[in-house]
Amino acid sequence: MFEIKENISLKNYNTFGIDVKSRFFVECTSSQEIVDFLKTRQNPNLPLLVLGGGSNVLFTKDFDGYILRPSTKGIEIINESDDDITIKVGAGEDWDEFVAYCVERNWGGIENLSLIPGNVGTCPIQNIGAYGVEVEDVIAEVEALNISTFKTECFKNDECEFAYRDSIFKRKLKGTQIITHVSFKLQKQPVFKLDYGKLKDELNRFDKVNLANIRQAVIDIRNSKLPKPEEIGNAGSFFKNPVIEKLKAIELLSQYEDMPSYDQGLGKVKIPAGWLIEKAGWKGKRIGNAGVHKNQALVLVNYGGSSGSDIYNVATEIQKSVKNMFDIDIAMEVNIV
Ligand SMILES: Cc1cc2nc3c(=O)[nH]c(=O)nc-3n(C[C@H](O)[C@H](O)[C@H](O)COP(=O)(O)OP(=O)(O)OC[C@H]3O[C@@H](n4cnc5c(N)ncnc54)[C@H](O)[C@@H]3O)c2cc1C
Repeated sequence: MFEIKENISLKNYNTFGIDVKSRFFVECTSSQEIVDFLKTRQNPNLPLLVLGGGSNVLFTKDFDGYILRPSTKGIEIINESDDDITIKVGAGEDWDEFVAYCVERNWGGIENLSLIPGNVGTCPIQNIGAYGVEVEDVIAEVEALNISTFKTECFKNDECEFAYRDSIFKRKLKGTQIITHVSFKLQKQPVFKLDYGKLKDELNRFDKVNLANIRQAVIDIRNSKLPKPEEIGNAGSFFKNPVIEKLKAIELLSQYEDMPSYDQGLGKVKIPAGWLIEKAGWKGKRIGNAGVHKNQALVLVNYGGSSGSDIYNVATEIQKSVKNMFDIDIAMEVNIV
């Protein structure tokens, strides 16, 4: 049975380590518990926020409502052939433990997504991605509870409207569904994806390429370049990489020859937000206890004791600088609460 706690500090529930309070806080271990909670909560008009591992949120103030953590667990095989396996996973499972579980069984498809913090239930929301793989490549179905009707709804992959760091759950359905399970279709004869960044080079030191070694290589690269939230509060990339018109990119390239750019087809080009932020002079900059990481311009950090609004202010200043210098809008990837 769930317990509704009051006035809980969220410091240990977000990777920025922001010390705000939630008026109510509840953890539910099954879909039925979530329904019971939704039906019986005393103040149904207060805002409701679903929280996973808190690795993609920035709390800017105390939360005057209910925070609900769906802790539905379990990994169940629902279909299997010689070539592939479909498994249904509880939203409350830890993402990286789940990746390790699949790699151990030689089920391929998510090894490149190793060491991304957060829960399984959150992975479809911003269509997590890294090292040339996005989770939409392997999601078969997302199961969610409709907050208004208390009914379970299933969304097949093509109904999730996946895009770069985006899905229907971030847009049309934002705030209307609680994801309780995600089903993945993984390959038993894995095809490796090694074309992205330094991955191939990193794999040279292993005697063979297999899922376990790819996972290890990804973990090693990530550990060498990304700050660990346990050591310095952060939420990974704070901004999305902007996609701009090709003509605009050509114009900028004539001014900034070193600007990296990736053709997206259809007259669009993706520019790394980290490069724009660094060029605008923000890398390693600190304002009070908030700032930009010294090695990663895309990662905003809490040096200790920062408030969420301090970090938010740094983020908006960065947006203004990038706009002034390049006339490009960079959107926040992190959810501001
Ligand atoms: C060091 C670091 C590195 C990172 N690297 C990457 C990376 O390489 N690629 C990448 O894509 N992301 C990355 N991230 C971002 C983050 O890990 C992912 O977005 C992750 O999926 C967030 O999961 P979470 O459970 O922590 O989500 P939370 O932060 O708890 O929630 C995120 C949003 O989803 C909503 N939500 C959470 N659970 C549910 C649910 N069950 N139902 C409905 N809504 C829900 C919340 O209300 C919130 O709006 C990184 C973060 C950190 C700190």
